[in-house]
Amino acid sequence: MAKITKILTDRGILTMKINPINSTNQYRQNDVSFNGGLPRKIVCFGPPASGKGTQTSRLSNELGLPHIDMGSLLRAVISSGSEEGQLAKSFIEKGQLVPTKLIARIIENTLASAKCKDGYILDGFPRNLEQASLLDKINQRIEAGKKAIFQAINFEVSPKLLLERIVNRRSCPECGEIYNLKFKVPKSENECDICHVHLKQRADDTAEIAQARFRTYDEQTAPLIDYYRQQGTLSSIDANGSIEEVWHNLTKAIKR
Ligand SMILES: [Zn+2]
Repeated sequence: MAKITKILTDRGILTMKINPINSTNQYRQNDVSFNGGLPRKIVCFGPPASGKGTQTSRLSNELGLPHIDMGSLLRAVISSGSEEGQLAKSFIEKGQLVPTKLIARIIENTLASAKCKDGYILDGFPRNLEQASLLDKINQRIEAGKKAIFQAINFEVSPKLLLERIVNRRSCPECGEIYNLKFKVPKSENECDICHVHLKQRADDTAEIAQARFRTYDEQTAPLIDYYRQQGTLSSIDANGSIEEVWHNLTKAIKR
């Protein structure tokens, strides 16, 4: 009991998270929000079409932690007109990649802000070993010797399934609803269930372009698996199943 009292004094947020009836102090089985009172930092990575975006948004709601999606963050910074935003915009307008140093500055400002004081779920960063090492340094600076829980989640999906998800993806040009000719079949052939217009395939959802994206992922991002394994922070989850199955695997992997 003394341990629980201490946790409550430290952060004052765990009152609802502990099963008061169970005298063995076990935490509720489906409760993924318990964090021992420490900030919880989660990075998620996985190949294109791994379903990572859907799952991380849901995890963000479940844990009450901000979902920092690199693409959205960059767009927000650019539209804010800040110095970093203007700089990032200048590279994009020239058709160049935003340099890692600038990305890291934007990430550090965000992760050091008040909204991330209890932690964050990071999606789309790091994408390579250089960025992973930068993130470690950023976290060290922000934590300044204080403890935090860090976890890297790797979404594992069979390449064959990823390809099927991509080449069979279709969307409605009217309402934007996404279908899949294998996994989420429209009621009438190639027609939106809601708007009854012809479904479209995105120009880059071809086998060739998908294979090229997988190669980039394997070269740049897959080495993060070894990096975080050696660090002892890696959790790989089976992301081959349905949204609910993957969600189950994800919540099981989240440290309590
Ligand atoms: Zn539609």
